Amino acid sequence: MWRTKTLYCKCGLKLLDYRKRGPGRWIKVHRSRISKDYSTLFEQKLAKGESIYCPNCGERLATVQNVSGKWVFKLNQGAIGKIKGRA
Ligand SMILES: [Zn+2]
Repeated sequence: MWRTKTLYCKCGLKLLDYRKRGPGRWIKVHRSRISKDYSTLFEQKLAKGESIYCPNCGERLATVQNVSGKWVFKLNQGAIGKIKGRA
């Protein structure tokens, strides 16, 4: 089941609306499933291994990985704030 969820940094900055599949922890962000990128951070062209930092608090939010030719952002669990949206 796909639900649109909203991801926040732990400082409260709104980051993304995202179509997430299923319940459970939010580990990765696939660019193609982002429905709105509030911060535009995830639209940046980044190389593998580069990280995204919150412009508000400086926390490292995610690191770019390349999985089977697809760009995937692996979220830093320590930087994730609240997630809005039904499970
Ligand atoms: Zn932040």
